[in-house]
Amino acid sequence: MNAGKNFIDKDYIENLLKTAVHTSDAEIDSYLDKAENFEGLKHHEIAALLVNNKSEHLKRIYDIAGKIKRHIYGNRIVMFAPLYVSDYCVNRCSYCSYNCGHKFKRSKLTMDEVREEVRLIEKMGHKRIALEAGEHDKKCPINYILECMHTIYGMKFKNGEIRRINVNIAATTVENYRKLKEVGIGTYILFQETYHQPTYERIHLSGPKTDYEYHLTAFDRAHEAGIDDVGGGVLFGLADPYFETLALMIHNEHLEENFNVGFHTISVPRLCPAQGMDMASFPNMVDDATFEKIVAVIRLAVPFTGMILSTRENHEMRKKLLKLGISQISAGSSTEVGGYTKRENHTEQNPQFFVNDDRDALSIISELMDDGYIPSFCTACYRNGRTGDRFMSLAKSGQIKNVCLPNALMTLCEYSIDYGDKDFNEKADAAIKRELPEIQNEKMRFLTASNVEKIQHGERDFFV
Ligand code: SAM
Repeated sequence: MNAGKNFIDKDYIENLLKTAVHTSDAEIDSYLDKAENFEGLKHHEIAALLVNNKSEHLKRIYDIAGKIKRHIYGNRIVMFAPLYVSDYCVNRCSYCSYNCGHKFKRSKLTMDEVREEVRLIEKMGHKRIALEAGEHDKKCPINYILECMHTIYGMKFKNGEIRRINVNIAATTVENYRKLKEVGIGTYILFQETYHQPTYERIHLSGPKTDYEYHLTAFDRAHEAGIDDVGGGVLFGLADPYFETLALMIHNEHLEENFNVGFHTISVPRLCPAQGMDMASFPNMVDDATFEKIVAVIRLAVPFTGMILSTRENHEMRKKLLKLGISQISAGSSTEVGGYTKRENHTEQNPQFFVNDDRDALSIISELMDDGYIPSFCTACYRNGRTGDRFMSLAKSGQIKNVCLPNALMTLCEYSIDYGDKDFNEKADAAIKRELPEIQNEKMRFLTASNVEKIQHGERDFFV
């Protein structure tokens, strides 16, 4: 295993990008034929697609991304909400409002406050959260994170509970990852921010996060501790986006080679304005067209990896990217410690970064239905132990349709009855009727139909 070693070779990636501009049209076509067969892409092929800007190739890239998305993920979109529990931070990251040099009143939630935030998140219908915190060993030690998770998993509401907690906290030790595993972490999420080491070192000015290699090898330690669902990402806007995309793919391969499974999910956050940071000092901001191409190329390169988009992106961009490969989005999000409670009380807010889609959860979820998607509140894989390579085998076998679609329809039915209004109920009923025949396995189709009926009569929490 390569733990402790930097597996990102900067010169190699830069050379790939330099050489890629000489790729012929015929070569690009052959890469696209391969991608169309869900075979993924090699480094030089990814590089060639990234640097290429010919409209006929771009059109094919988008068409194939859409085809892969529909074939593997159908029209299901998994929903989640972030929960910020502490904004204490010892790092000085120049893009982040939690930067320890910024003066603002910091806080961490008490367990009562955690309960109140979770109550409000659940009230929106969410069953899956991403728990977020700044890095501060004293104010926010691992035991605090574990206590939050215990508290959240221990809560039961009239209509259900939070059934999966993904965790996005700073790179840590094998021992701490083991503790997270023991309390039932879903996916461990960590963004490399940038894989370009000189940039990484320039923008991480002090604190433990300055250690590029320690951050880079966090997933190796998580795997060593038994966490086999890990979610990567870069913060687009810090360095050359094509370099970042290739490096992300190389990281994925590193995990596949060493642990038999790559990223469970890839997030594609783009840098947003935040308190105390100056957008003018980030010359690598990614324009919309480039961003769309990157999302589509990732979809082609790793067809079986889920892709996450947050409310950093506006409504219009989300709509476009959902077609190209995004399979999971947040809705009704607050990116602030205690933010859901503040929103409920109409108190002034101070988020980690400013979100670009501030519509309420029901509006976003309802619009997904108008656009033909099935919002899914499914958490079944993790609860059935289908994590790591067990999930990937399911995805690659094509069986995902016989498992994910039933779960999506059953959880949508729950959501509709428990959180929807009349208009939403009608849309959901129509969508469930429309989609049920799409479940190919007959036994599963009957089971789903029967469970939907039971949900309509008051039973809850069916999953396969
Ligand atoms: N503290 C954890 C760590 O060190 O990785 C992660 C938690 S932080 C709350 C989650 C993510 O927010 C960061 O990894 C970073 O990518 C993102 N973030 C920070 N500042 C941002 C900004 N200005 N715009 C968009 N995303 C930002």
